[in-house]
Amino acid sequence: MSYVLNEEIQEILGGQPKLTLEESSKEFIIQGVYEYSLDFDGYIAQGERKIKLTVVNNFPNSIPKLFVYDNPKKMEHIYTDGSVCLATTGEMIYFLTENPSLIAFVHKFVNAFIFTMHWFEKYGTYPFGDRSHGYKGSLDYYLGDLKLTKEQYKAMVSIIYGNRYRGHMPCICGSGRKLRACHGKYMLPIIKNPAYKNEFLNEACGILTEDGKIVSKKSTK
Ligand SMILES: [Zn+2]
Repeated sequence: MSYVLNEEIQEILGGQPKLTLEESSKEFIIQGVYEYSLDFDGYIAQGERKIKLTVVNNFPNSIPKLFVYDNPKKMEHIYTDGSVCLATTGEMIYFLTENPSLIAFVHKFVNAFIFTMHWFEKYGTYPFGDRSHGYKGSLDYYLGDLKLTKEQYKAMVSIIYGNRYRGHMPCICGSGRKLRACHGKYMLPIIKNPAYKNEFLNEACGILTEDGKIVSKKSTK
């Protein structure tokens, strides 16, 4: 797998003369100035961004992390250390399960974020809609895209946390189908992979216990 990852990294660097690669025993660090020319629905955004992308070498069994350093003021989803909340953990895990490719990940999440920064700087709005910040935003993915209630999301977390997944169990969503024929496809990739599971449960801990924290985060801005 790391052979393929190397090839993908070389392909990414190939078109990016201002990016450099650092390689340690456990991760790849791609950093420098990212030159972009992105086309979303016919709107072309071109420019440069100082970034860092860290990819643990067990990719795609881990989620890459993006850092940005010249972010527009007041833009959400960027933390003080420059790390970026690209998307909900469950969404990225599901995407990587379906598309185990760093290039695909960069296109889907990194480029979309870079485009968003570009757009936000120009217009002060979010081109893909105003995704909620922090844990609220994460929960919205499970409620919206996965069409679960908060109670059903709790059941999903509880099954994953307690290693209680059985394919023949009735699905958490109440569809009457078996888990394996319904929401199991979102859960199995998390269950099968300790690193994913860890990230998912960390996020769940935030969603389920720290709702109030979002308020205090906002007020300190
Ligand atoms: Zn279901």
